[in-house]
Amino acid sequence: VCILAVETSCDETSVAVVENGVRIRSNVVSSQIETHRRFGGVVPEIASRKHVESITWMIEEALQQAELTTDRLSAIAVTQGPGLVGALLVGIMAAKSLAYALELPLIAVHHIAGHIYANQLVQPIEYPAIALVVSGGHTELVYLEAPARFRIVGQTRDDAAGEAYDKVARALRLPYPGGPHIDKLAHEADVAQEMPRAWLEPDSYDFSFSGLKSAVLNTVNQAQMRGEALQSAQIARGFQESVIDVLVTKALRAVNEFSARQLLLAGGVAANRGLRAQLSERCAELGVPLIVPPLSLCTDNAAMIAAAAFLKWERRDFAELDLQAVPLLNLETW
Ligand code: ATP
Ligand code: MG
Ligand code: FE
Repeated sequence: VCILAVETSCDETSVAVVENGVRIRSNVVSSQIETHRRFGGVVPEIASRKHVESITWMIEEALQQAELTTDRLSAIAVTQGPGLVGALLVGIMAAKSLAYALELPLIAVHHIAGHIYANQLVQPIEYPAIALVVSGGHTELVYLEAPARFRIVGQTRDDAAGEAYDKVARALRLPYPGGPHIDKLAHEADVAQEMPRAWLEPDSYDFSFSGLKSAVLNTVNQAQMRGEALQSAQIARGFQESVIDVLVTKALRAVNEFSARQLLLAGGVAANRGLRAQLSERCAELGVPLIVPPLSLCTDNAAMIAAAAFLKWERRDFAELDLQAVPLLNLETW
């Protein structure tokens, strides 16, 4: 079973062909980061236009790299949400057109389900599992009782982890997106600037990063007012240690409480070297099986969308051709 998937929820256009939900035949990704960089963030209108420019040739490219003709495809999958409505629409239009023209079923996929099922491309997921989802727009601990049955046990009350990374990076005058730059800078410091950790209520799996973000901004402002040089690397390291400490501690507590057989890491911030190292170390100590996707499958890509779509294929859970984009799609009812 070969599923062609399209992902256009934010600033990456991607088309992939995946066999049986596990074998990547192709995964073509075109990032718009360079285009948005001078604005310091994603400009929705520009993102939509860029998706329109690339989607057609990328579908052809994905088929060519997969060495497949369209008659070998079983279904067309597409990200329905969450994401930027105009950006989502471009992918949905392309997917609908393909499904209609090729007389193939259409499968709607939740973007975060995709991030989580990137893990299935690495090794089979065993249930129950806990997923730590850390991306540009989401920070969640998700309990997976069975395939595609999601329950959010904790989530951010303010900024997402990736959002905090990008805002702190901006304060430290690093280029957009800031996550990878903070990660690199943090590794260059030999000491960390002490930063607060938001544990919230003792039994809570929720997260909060706005206090931490403010602490960084205050440190930067104070240094400026005193006319002191900014200890960027130490601040980056302090910030990163605080984020990782809370994420790892809460994820492992959830694994224990929910008797999870595996911990899955998902989302763009999963590309963070510090987080990957710390999580592997703690999981090894505690004997918790951990799956961490390779970097290329952590950030937005269509292979993960095809992997999640395969679960719906198995249930023959298809979408109609009047499918709508849903910018705030719910993961639990998806
Ligand atoms: P969502 O998936 O929630 O809709 P998104 O698709 O925009 O949001 P992703 O593409 O999954 O988010 O991830 C992008 C985020 O990951 C950005 O905030 C970026 O700074 C962050 N990121 C990427 N690499 C790293 C890294 N090495 N360390 C920390 N953050 C990183
Ligand atoms: Mg992105
Ligand atoms: Fe994403």
